[in-house]
Amino acid sequence: MSRVRLHDLDFVPFIPEGEVAAAIDRVAARLNTDYTGWRPLLIGVLNGAFFFAAELMKRLTIECEVTFVKVASYHGTRSTGKVSELIGLSERIEGRHVVVLEDIVDTGSTIRYIMDALAEHHPASVRIAALLFKPDAYKQEIPIDFVALNIPNAFVVGSGLDHDGLGRNLPGILKIAEP
Ligand code: 5GP
Repeated sequence: MSRVRLHDLDFVPFIPEGEVAAAIDRVAARLNTDYTGWRPLLIGVLNGAFFFAAELMKRLTIECEVTFVKVASYHGTRSTGKVSELIGLSERIEGRHVVVLEDIVDTGSTIRYIMDALAEHHPASVRIAALLFKPDAYKQEIPIDFVALNIPNAFVVGSGLDHDGLGRNLPGILKIAEP
């Protein structure tokens, strides 16, 4: 795949599909080891985490459940740092071992909000798994327990990640082209 135009921006291939798959394999292997016998509840953060959730689930050999929530927090190519609401948490999570699945952790404000919101429901434990993590942008103290791929501070799409609705279907990870 070469350069792809999404709305007003050009993106170039960055991480090939095979590397993304291998990174998800490693996260799945760790979850299979750490959560044997615990029946974790995986909570995917929509929209972006649908891809990561599906790819991870099919590699899990342990008993596990999955559900999804939605948080409105991001517009365009920069994080607003503002998070409004956690929508769709219907499962009872009290006493459960929860793993939050994020497509990408950037500044960490979204994950901070989710962790605070989940804590109100008294889960037994909450850990975080992220497909992509931008360590240079991260501003929180909360550890990101399972990171598939660390990436530099660039805007990326593909594998579930979008630019204003487009690009979620692109295989692998693409990053914004230098002007
Ligand atoms: P944070 O709250 O950690 O700053 O941002 C998390 C959210 O911002 C992600 O769930 C995602 O929706 C969006 N985001 C942050 N960086 C990127 C990026 O490089 N590409 C895309 N497509 N979304 C991003």
